[in-house]
Amino acid sequence: LSQLFRPLDLLGMVYRTVRQGLIDMAAMFALIDTEAEVVDRPGAPPLHVAAGHVRFENVRFGYEPERLILDGVDLDVPAGTSLAIVGASGAGKSTIARLLFRFYDPQGGRITIDGQDIAQVDQASLRAAIGIVPQDTVLFNDTIGYNIAYGRDGADAAAIQAAAAGAAIDGFIASLPAGMDTEVGERGLKLSGGEKQRVAIARTLLKNPPILVLDEATSALDSRTEAEILETLNRVAQRRTTISIAHRLSTITQADQIVVLDAGRVIERGSHATLMAAGGRYAELWARQAAEAEKGEARAAA
Ligand code: ATP
Repeated sequence: LSQLFRPLDLLGMVYRTVRQGLIDMAAMFALIDTEAEVVDRPGAPPLHVAAGHVRFENVRFGYEPERLILDGVDLDVPAGTSLAIVGASGAGKSTIARLLFRFYDPQGGRITIDGQDIAQVDQASLRAAIGIVPQDTVLFNDTIGYNIAYGRDGADAAAIQAAAAGAAIDGFIASLPAGMDTEVGERGLKLSGGEKQRVAIARTLLKNPPILVLDEATSALDSRTEAEILETLNRVAQRRTTISIAHRLSTITQADQIVVLDAGRVIERGSHATLMAAGGRYAELWARQAAEAEKGEARAAA
C-alpha cells in the first residue's frame, strides 16, 4: 500500500512547494507589480543559507537596456543585520528587492547570499529563504487561521497560534465571533490595513526565513498603529538579515545601516546618527519630512 502512496506523497510535496511559491510570488507581485522572467539554469543547485549574508556587488540593471535603473550598486548586509534603503520615489528601492528575489537578473555585477551567486541557484530555494512583508497583503477568502497558515503548509494549530501571538494579532482574533475560524477576505470580515499587515507578519513568522524584506510604507495606517506594527516588525527582524524599503524616514532610525539611493546610485551610507551629522541628502530628506509632518499636524489641529 505504501508503494501506492509514495507518488501521492510526492505530488503533495510538489503541490505544497508550488503553493508556497505562489504565495510568495503573489506577495512579491503586489510589492512589485511585474512578471517573473528568469529561468533556472539546468541542474541549478539549491541555495544553502548558513547565516544569510547578502551582498550586491557593482550591480547594474535596467528594465529596458537603454535606461539604467541601478548603476553600480554595492550593498553589504552582514548576516543578522538590518539595511534600510531610502531615496526619492523612482530611485530604484523596490528594484533592489525585485533583484534579490530574482525576478530579473542584473546586466552587470552580481548578488550573493552567503557567497553563492543567486543567478546560479534554484529559484524555489532562493525564494524559500526570503520572507516578504508587503504593504498590501492579499487575503484569501477563507478563515483567518487559514490565511496565517499559508506561511507554512502543514502548520499545526499551536504553531499558528504562536505566529499570531508573535505578530500581536492574537488578541484581535480572540475577540472575533469564531476566533481562528472567522471568515475573512472579500466575502468575510474585512480587515484593516494594520490587521492585514499583521497577518502577513504572522505568515512570515511561520515561514521563519533567514532573510526578510520589509516594504515599510505604512501610509495607510494611523501613526499609533504604525508605531505598533513597527515595534512588532523590529522584533521579528531580530537575528535575521533584514532589508527594508523605507518610504518614511521615521521608521528606520534603528537600522544598522542606511543607504540613500539617488538615480540608481548609492550616494550616502551610514547609521542614522552618522548621516544626520554629515548634513547631506539624508539630513535634507529628514528635514523635509519633518516639515511636512508639522504642516500635517497643524492642519489636523486647525
Ligand atoms: P517608490 O518609492 O515610488 O516606490 P522606488 O525607489 O521603489 O520608488 P522602483 O520601483 O525601484 O522605485 O522603480 C525605479 C524606476 O524603474 C522607476 O523609474 C520606474 O518607473 C522604473 N520601473 C519600475 N518597474 C518597471 C518595469 N516593470 N518596467 C519598466 N520600468 C520600471
